[in-house]
Amino acid sequence: MPTQTEVEQALLRALLKHGGVIKEFGSGQEIVDEIANEFGLNERQRSAFLETIYRKENRVKKSLLWHRLLFRAADALARNNLVTRPTQTLELTKQREWLLTEKGFDNALKLCKIPTERKEFLPTKSFEVQKIVKKLTETRRPEDYDPFDKNKKVTKTTRESALRNRGFRQAVIEAYNCKCAVCGLKINSPDSLSWEVEAAHIVPHRFKGRDDIFNGIALCRIHHWAFDVGWFTLLDDYKIQTSPQLSQLPTDFGSVEGYDFLRTFANKGKEASLPFSREIRPHQNAVRWHRQNIFHQ
Ligand SMILES: [Zn+2]
Repeated sequence: MPTQTEVEQALLRALLKHGGVIKEFGSGQEIVDEIANEFGLNERQRSAFLETIYRKENRVKKSLLWHRLLFRAADALARNNLVTRPTQTLELTKQREWLLTEKGFDNALKLCKIPTERKEFLPTKSFEVQKIVKKLTETRRPEDYDPFDKNKKVTKTTRESALRNRGFRQAVIEAYNCKCAVCGLKINSPDSLSWEVEAAHIVPHRFKGRDDIFNGIALCRIHHWAFDVGWFTLLDDYKIQTSPQLSQLPTDFGSVEGYDFLRTFANKGKEASLPFSREIRPHQNAVRWHRQNIFHQ
């Protein structure tokens, strides 16, 4: 059987692979077998029982040794503040899962030899980031929304702004089911660590646009760029409007093998694909500002 330290490290690697969360180690949970496979445990090792004798009550409790080992390792991670326990996570995300903390995330990256700079772009959940996501997705939609955050520092990155950034990215990408709101593209990396789709600010960061769900929209890289430079915008009813200047471009601009990334949406009255809940859709005040200040008529 592997040592507890080896299991702890395997758990941290598994957490990173599974986006920062793994289920409790109940029977039938895939994670239990997944880590057992990693250590090449045979059938006998997987089904070995551990007998605990309760002398006072004069009874013997049998539990699976492998489950016990997994639990002990996870418990040690929790004591060192590298993960939160399922009971603690439940309060935040309503899921009974072990969840990475920021400290655990850093440790997991180190174990997997992934540079810490990549942290910014990974969709991995952490307890601290999920707290921000919860706040962002549960904020009541304001009637009169101000898409500008006057106190925002646009040049300096602090630990707090880095966390807020990741919370923003995660809340937006999840709300759009990891798909581009314009073309619907959905794809992640082979190691499933990162999604192609990005969380775009409607009022851009450089104009002190807020990092919240009302000023965000999920877009693939091409449509994110095209939105930022003003090739298209959204109307108040979320129909996609493309710039009339597109017609002045040579026909081979903006198209690949006959698929036209922008003209496809010109004059079609196609609506952007937004979250089902109206509460978390982009706010008209943000969209209007984009139309008046970024979009090229
Ligand atoms: Zn797209």
